[in-house]
Amino acid sequence: MTRLGLGLPTIRRAPTERPDTTGRPDATGLLDRFGRVARDLRISLTEKCSLRCTYCMPAEGLPAIAREDLLTPVEIARLVQVAVRDLGVRDIRFTGGEPLMRADLEEIIARSTEVAEGASVSMTTNGIGLDKRIGGLVAAGLTRLNVSLDTVDRDHFARLTRRDRLAAVLAGIEAAKLAGIAPLKINAVLMRDTLGGAVDLLAWSLDNGARLRFIEQMPLDADEAWARDNMVDAAELLDVLSSRFTLSQPHREDPSAPAEEWLVDGGPATVGIIASVTRSFCSACDRTRVTAEGTVRSCLFGDDETDLRALLRGGADDAELADWWRAAMWGKQAGHGMERSDFVRPVRSMGAIGG
Ligand code: SAM
Ligand code: SF4
Repeated sequence: MTRLGLGLPTIRRAPTERPDTTGRPDATGLLDRFGRVARDLRISLTEKCSLRCTYCMPAEGLPAIAREDLLTPVEIARLVQVAVRDLGVRDIRFTGGEPLMRADLEEIIARSTEVAEGASVSMTTNGIGLDKRIGGLVAAGLTRLNVSLDTVDRDHFARLTRRDRLAAVLAGIEAAKLAGIAPLKINAVLMRDTLGGAVDLLAWSLDNGARLRFIEQMPLDADEAWARDNMVDAAELLDVLSSRFTLSQPHREDPSAPAEEWLVDGGPATVGIIASVTRSFCSACDRTRVTAEGTVRSCLFGDDETDLRALLRGGADDAELADWWRAAMWGKQAGHGMERSDFVRPVRSMGAIGG
């Protein structure tokens, strides 16, 4: 097994380092030892980003990945095809880093949607530059979009993202709405500095017909500033939102979905809360991840990765790719382990994994 050095995950490479699959039944899907089956694939497209959110990136950005080390649109589509056709994946989401930093994003979406029959293809983005590219992305087949927006206060936004770009994000959201993306979903990470603005963000989302979901901050910031004692949890957010809105009993469309939905002022509008830290949904996790360099990561918090890019470039056939992917997922850990006193953060930060 190759341990590349401090700050890098453990990467298993073909032909000798295939993950151990002892005890795995002969199932086609992405099964793990705890009986979970992954059907939701997150593919990171780049480590680059136009923002530097403090809960994610270091101020100077992540170390650059050499261009030749990134998966190409053809390689990404090949993995999408294997995932959907051979491994039972039903949802594909492109993420990063910032997907819009890739000039070939339209080609990636077009090639992937072509081979992802029966699966949904979506993207998580910070929205910067989306106004100029939404037409091409929709033409390439993109129908679903999550935009990350933590606050509608310009100063708070600039402090949190280390960039004064709120107007650019709002322009991107407006363009997506005009292009017919519906429902438009907004993701907001819960941070102490912006908690006071949570009511304004919800009011703005309601006015703009966007579905807002708050996410508890996880210890995946490159600066390693996260502290359990200081993080804003779902309970605290509910208190703040209740000062302006009436939130009624949780209403769960899909009990396995990570977001707990609340009706706002009697509905039909809702607000979602993903309590990844205080109410872990690891036991129902159905995610598999591919990093921008083409390694499979079975868990956000697991630094054991399996290199599919080497297989792709070494001439492996689809059956071999699927076999290695299944093997990688069999070793998925039970949960993030944040509740344990011996919890150790993963070496990769959120932007380097793909959130
Ligand atoms: N740049 C894009 C964006 O911001 O939407 C895509 C990549 S970003 C890493 C994906 C999602 O992860 C975003 O919604 C972001 O808010 C979330 N995220 C980043 N760091 C996080 C953390 N430490 N805890 C929880 N969510 C985080
Ligand atoms: Fe960039 Fe998204 Fe990370 Fe913010 S959360 S720094 S926009 S990758």
